[in-house]
Amino acid sequence: MRLFDQHLHSWNSFDCKTPPELNVRTAIEKGLAGLTFTEHFDTHPTEWPDCIYDDAKITRELDALRAEYGNRVVIGKGIEVCYQPERMDFILDFLAHHHFDVVLLSVHWAFDRPVHRLELFDGVDLATYLRTYLEAVAAATAEIACMKRSGHQPFHILGHLDFARRYAHRHWGFDGPLDAPDLVDAILTNCLEAGLIPEINTSTLRNNISAPMPGPQVVKRYAELGGTCMSLGSDAHSPQYVGQDFTKALAIMRDAGLHELAVFREGALSTVPID
Ligand SMILES: [Zn+2]
Ligand SMILES: [Zn+2]
Repeated sequence: MRLFDQHLHSWNSFDCKTPPELNVRTAIEKGLAGLTFTEHFDTHPTEWPDCIYDDAKITRELDALRAEYGNRVVIGKGIEVCYQPERMDFILDFLAHHHFDVVLLSVHWAFDRPVHRLELFDGVDLATYLRTYLEAVAAATAEIACMKRSGHQPFHILGHLDFARRYAHRHWGFDGPLDAPDLVDAILTNCLEAGLIPEINTSTLRNNISAPMPGPQVVKRYAELGGTCMSLGSDAHSPQYVGQDFTKALAIMRDAGLHELAVFREGALSTVPID
């Protein structure tokens, strides 16, 4: 079976120094069918000055890589949009005027606080921190479902559904499953309604956390609610992590009764059987 890594970064993201060619070579060495670069697009006023998203440069570099490696691996151009409700007009206008194979919606902020800045959650307990994050994801996905109802579908994949678990582990040592079935159901239902495919993000597995984002319980619930396919993403910021731990992610999908991977080209969904 040939797999696609649809979430990874290169030197075209502010927090990554990897030449994109190294990611491509790793994907070929690991036998992936394809990789899609999803560089950060961070529009919050406090982050925008440091966001280095340069669409012309990215397009130029990926075209050159396709010319050299395109007969061995599919090289996609994506984007990881940091959800900012106050900046949606700007984000949607940008997406409408640029071309992507896949657009990831990622929630990195919860109600105007970046979730990785734990000092901004001073006095908040673990359960409240996690619920606050999931409430933000529920609100974001509800907005995308609303867009779908009015005929717009600018986002394809929901990135790292329970991203706050990464920081809950760092701050509280938390490594359990989520205990918020109401919010998990709300998020998954919104995704299904919005046509937004959740990814399995394997980056936590290389950071001493026992489950990817999301973990097996959420994947199982997604299947129970009618989900049929998911996307795989390593969130690699270093080339050696491209395609990392996909075998574990596939095992979780199979255990949940899911049999297809979601792959996006030119914004169109196709599925790859995983059996
Ligand atoms: Zn992210
Ligand atoms: Zn990412």
